[in-house]
Amino acid sequence: MARPFPSEWLKIIRRNVAFFVRLSAKDQTELLNRVHVFLAEKGFEGCAGLQITDEVRVTIAAQACLLLLHRKTDYFPRLLTILVYPSTYWVHEQRPVTAEIWEEGKTHRSGETARTMGSMVLAWDAVKSGAADPSDGKNVVLHEFAHQLDYENFVADGTPALDTRKQQLSWQKVMRTEFASLRAAEATGIPTLLDTYGATNAAEFFAVSTEAFFERPVMLRAQHPRLYSEMRQYFQQDPVEFSAERTKPG
Ligand SMILES: [Zn+2]
Repeated sequence: MARPFPSEWLKIIRRNVAFFVRLSAKDQTELLNRVHVFLAEKGFEGCAGLQITDEVRVTIAAQACLLLLHRKTDYFPRLLTILVYPSTYWVHEQRPVTAEIWEEGKTHRSGETARTMGSMVLAWDAVKSGAADPSDGKNVVLHEFAHQLDYENFVADGTPALDTRKQQLSWQKVMRTEFASLRAAEATGIPTLLDTYGATNAAEFFAVSTEAFFERPVMLRAQHPRLYSEMRQYFQQDPVEFSAERTKPG
């Protein structure tokens, strides 16, 4: 952290990561310090012909480190390596339709990570488009790194490491209710602010809520005040303060 931040890296962040200039000067400084540590700790590997450049590393790191601001925390301790593909990729998977019936097929993915993987896969085109629009509610880096936060307490259950028992109880109560209402909305086809992919399970619900918290905070606070309040307490941030959301028409 003592080393000066390379000016080339700062240029990359200013060019690619739209939320950066909206942060307070203090938060910008903290973010850059954290990017430095993050890049010293994590390995990157290019896949399918993608070459890992400073642009790739810094654009990913700056978004991931937004999740660490203001918190006394480790740097995604379960994660060692980030694999980057040029673009969204197809995976063959089996997924449950009901408890008894599974379907098999190809799915389009922009990122994935798992508790025991030690790695994360990201599609560079999705990383860049997520960083370029800070208020469309979609950000693959925030999504996948939220999963990593969830793993810090060794289970992928949608509950990250919380400080107190009181906070845990409150979190679980709010998340259970919010998750149930997203599932109900998905089943009936009612449009929702939260991506209905969050209705998959509690872990996806946390990842999707994290995207909405940072990208649609004004709407999230208005429509889901209790969810917003739990997230604000955990992340120790109030993204309404730096959101680009309100300036957009509609
Ligand atoms: Zn996910």
